[in-house]
Order: sequence, then structure tokens, then C-alpha cells
Amino acid sequence: FAAMDSRKARQSLIRFEDIGGQDVAKNELCEALEFIKNAAQVREMGIRPLKGVLLTGPPGTGKTLLAKAAAQFTNSSFLAASGSEFVEMYVGVGAQRIRKLFSQARDTARRNKLKSAVIFIDEIDVLGGKRGQSGNNQEHDQTLNELLVQMDGLSLEDEICCLVIAATNRPEALDQALLRPGRFDRQVRVDLPDKKGRLHILHLHTRNKPLAEAVDLEEIAADTFGFSGAHLENVANEAAILALRDGAGQIEMRHLRSAVEKVILGEKLDRTPVA
Ligand code: ATP
Repeated sequence: FAAMDSRKARQSLIRFEDIGGQDVAKNELCEALEFIKNAAQVREMGIRPLKGVLLTGPPGTGKTLLAKAAAQFTNSSFLAASGSEFVEMYVGVGAQRIRKLFSQARDTARRNKLKSAVIFIDEIDVLGGKRGQSGNNQEHDQTLNELLVQMDGLSLEDEICCLVIAATNRPEALDQALLRPGRFDRQVRVDLPDKKGRLHILHLHTRNKPLAEAVDLEEIAADTFGFSGAHLENVANEAAILALRDGAGQIEMRHLRSAVEKVILGEKLDRTPVA
């Protein structure tokens, strides 16, 4: 399990304030996280505990960041995996990895003297696709079943309270069993940022860079329709590289404009506004 052992397992340092835009997603996620923060009251009231949150939306919009911020917000350990790590040739290997993921998450929390753990599974559709439809049926179905078993076994009585946050940009491909109450029963949509969100993200990614006085980030935000947070981070980085190459000392509007063009060309972004 070399890939799993080298996985970063630690407490996350990303806070919700470090994520630009996504106000609706942040609010919905925070609301759900109150369940973990107030586990004792939730238990007393006999409320069914929240075990899973599904983040849906296009790539690069901040789903991983949101999961990390959720761990920070709830003072939980953070362990990340990708759905593809559980896809194996041999029957039983994926299921074994799922068990290891949950036990590793609990161990990390225990080691760090934390009472809760966030397990993040990116590209959940790779392991959680509809049963009976994948090429290697038996192995795929066993892996998915093990995830369901592990989630069903989570309880507020546990010494370490676990929350599974999963991400996908293909929620329609998921096996319905994953979406039943007690599993991923909260869905939070993480969309491409609007202009206000893009401006916020641009501010965040230029805050440690020298910007010329005349730089108007509002103009850049207006010109970057269709960009994700990851694209905007790329724009800020490319602009700094162009300024360095120019010997300009500061990032100017022309650097930012060229960086926007570069990202559009490089990514072949479809920026046709939706009617
Ligand atoms: P994927 O579906 O491809 O895994 P994702 O939605 O999980 O993508 P992240 O990994 O969270 O996206 O984001 C990638 C990078 O893009 C981040 O490390 C960050 O630099 C930047 N980024 C994305 N969204 C935001 C945002 N809302 N605010 C600030 N930075 C962002």
C-alpha cells in the first residue's frame, strides 16, 4: 500500500476564509458541520448523525479546499484519497484499502489527540459508480459495498467521530445506495465562480504578490467568465512569471491580460455564456 502510506495525513491548515466565492457552498457545508461540532447535543436529541457530504461540481472549483476547511472548522484530522486508488484487478484489494483508509483516519486523529476525523474521497464516481455496470464487476461491487459498510458502522458513540466528504463532477453516475439517508445525505453544489467570486479568488491569489497601483482586478474578474478557481490561481501565477521575465518588478495589467489569454489558449476554455 505504498500509495496510501505516503498520503498526507495531518490536520488541515486551510480555513474557509482562504476560499474565494462559494458563499452558498460554504454556508451549506458549515451548517452540516454543526452536527460534528455539537456531537454531544446531536446524540442527546437522538438525531441521526451526519456521516457523509457530497460536493458536486466542475474540476478546480475548490472542492478539496472546502473539505480541508471543514476539517479545520471542526478541529478534525484530515485524510485524502482518490477514488482511483481503490480500483484494483484482484477481488478484495479495494475493499481492504477502504478498511485501511478508515482505520488510518482514526489513528491520525488519535495520534493528534483529536476527537474527529474528516475522510476526503475525490472522484468518488470512480469507486462509487452504479453496481453491476463496471468492467470488473465483482471487485468494483465489493469495494463499494465495503464503503457502505464502513459508513453504516459510523456512530456518534465512537471514540473518534468520522465524517466522509466526497467529491464528484458526475453525481448522476453514482450508485443510488450511496445517496440514501445515513450515507451521503447532504449534497453541496460547488459551481464555477461568478464575477464577485472570481474577484475574491483573484484577491486571495495576488495577496502575496507585488501588484502595480494601476492594476484593476475587477476588470480581470469581468474578463474571466467561465474560469474556475484553479484557472484564476494559474492566471495570478502566470502574470507573476511574465512580470519577472519582463524585469518589471511589479505585476501590471498587461501581464494579467496576457496571462488570461494564455490560460484560455492552454485550456481551450469554452466561455460561451449560457442563455
Ligand atoms: P478537482 O475536481 O479537479 O479535484 P477541486 O474542485 O477539488 O478540483 P481544488 O483542488 O480545491 O479543486 O482547487 C485547486 C486549486 O485551485 C486550489 O489549490 C487553489 O489554488 C485554486 N482554487 C480553486 N478554487 C478556489 C477558490 N474557491 N478559492 C481560492 N482558490 C481556489
